[in-house]
Amino acid sequence: MRFYSTNSPQTTVSTEQALFHSLPADKGLYMPTHLPFLGPDFFSAIADQSLADIGFAISKALFSDEISKADLEELTHQAFPFATPVVDLEPGKTSVLELFHGPSLAFKDVGARYMAGLMSHYSKHSDKEVNILVATSGDTGGAVAMGFHNVPGVRVSILYPTGRVSELQEKQLTTLGGNIQAFEVDGSFDDCQAIVKQAFVDAELNAHLSLSSANSINIFRLIPQGFYYVSAYGQVQKYHKPVVFSTPSGNFGNLSAGAMVQKMGLPVAHFIAATNLNHVVPTYLETGVYSPKPSVTTISNAMDVGNPSNFVRLAHLYDDDYDQFKTNVSGYFFDDDETRAGMKRIHDQFGYVACPHTAIGIMGLQSYLNETQQDYVGVALATAHPSKFKPLVEEVLAQVVEVPERLEILAHRKKYSIVIPADYEAFKESFLQTI
Ligand SMILES: *Cc1c(COP(=O)(O)O)cnc(C)c1O
Repeated sequence: MRFYSTNSPQTTVSTEQALFHSLPADKGLYMPTHLPFLGPDFFSAIADQSLADIGFAISKALFSDEISKADLEELTHQAFPFATPVVDLEPGKTSVLELFHGPSLAFKDVGARYMAGLMSHYSKHSDKEVNILVATSGDTGGAVAMGFHNVPGVRVSILYPTGRVSELQEKQLTTLGGNIQAFEVDGSFDDCQAIVKQAFVDAELNAHLSLSSANSINIFRLIPQGFYYVSAYGQVQKYHKPVVFSTPSGNFGNLSAGAMVQKMGLPVAHFIAATNLNHVVPTYLETGVYSPKPSVTTISNAMDVGNPSNFVRLAHLYDDDYDQFKTNVSGYFFDDDETRAGMKRIHDQFGYVACPHTAIGIMGLQSYLNETQQDYVGVALATAHPSKFKPLVEEVLAQVVEVPERLEILAHRKKYSIVIPADYEAFKESFLQTI
């Protein structure tokens, strides 16, 4: 598989280059030059297959020119020891695809774990340790920390803003030890991100270290996210109806992943882009004008993105053609009051406890089904476990939300972080001491 940059489609790089240098020098985004078409037989044979089996089958179609089948099989089975079950709210009409059964309780586990497996595959053949730098406002850091923990040949340094991530999120970043270290920055998320960006362009640092990133710009976080759309399709085939997906969206990596498997032949009747008040994409779908805005803070904070970094990818997948984009995707957005009311209604109506992001996905789906009046089976992606937003969910639903044991045990572990001011030179000095 070769990858091109959206800014210069004529030059391509290998899988290994796109994996370790997430961002092309021309500031475009990497995309696969060619997506293999998997025919109807492929998609009708997956009803009972696990996420790992589906991941292996698609990985073979994508990467078997570069990675042996045995290695791909091991990689996918190690990455996905958990399932992505579809849970019916109204059978044959409305269901949720639960993507939070991995270690950090959010869908980001899927991308982070697959990417970790690929990096470990390539670094086995190299004697240079790979250093991953990530800035996080919470969720990404947890999935990356847990996904890369104990992966040989890879060290992860996570920068997070002190006092601005939840207690449990902080525990995910700071208690694993081993090849994972956390820098607690006395500043904001933007400060953390600025430090990471500066490290990538620091010639001295890059001269003797192999630095890499694990944010959602990296195409290898997106590719595996396609696997669960396929898994969900298999699970709802028993209803013999066209399938629509509703994806709660922020940076639009998740929806781009869906559009990629649609291009590979997955029969998706329609996508719903569901957002909060950061609604540049729903507005684009309505008006044809894409105008990024500064982000606004909401209760579905993992989707507080004013200029989604994957919009370019999604547009490319629809040939940069507004009509094609609009034919395949509808946008809906909800403010915080609507989100709270939706969480409560979903709980009253179906007995289902949804995190605010998931609730927005379900509401988007319901709005679309009401508008079109077509006989679709709708699948809303449940992007995080409700306990990740425990105080909010408990307040809205007036009931206790249990934290799954795999996360609860972290609460009792000892935190270890390297505290630094929001200053690049200070980071560099303490980072180099840890090498
Ligand atoms: C990251 C995240 C999103 C947004 O996903 P994108 O791929 O950035 O669109 C939605 N919900 C939750 C819980 C998340 O963590």
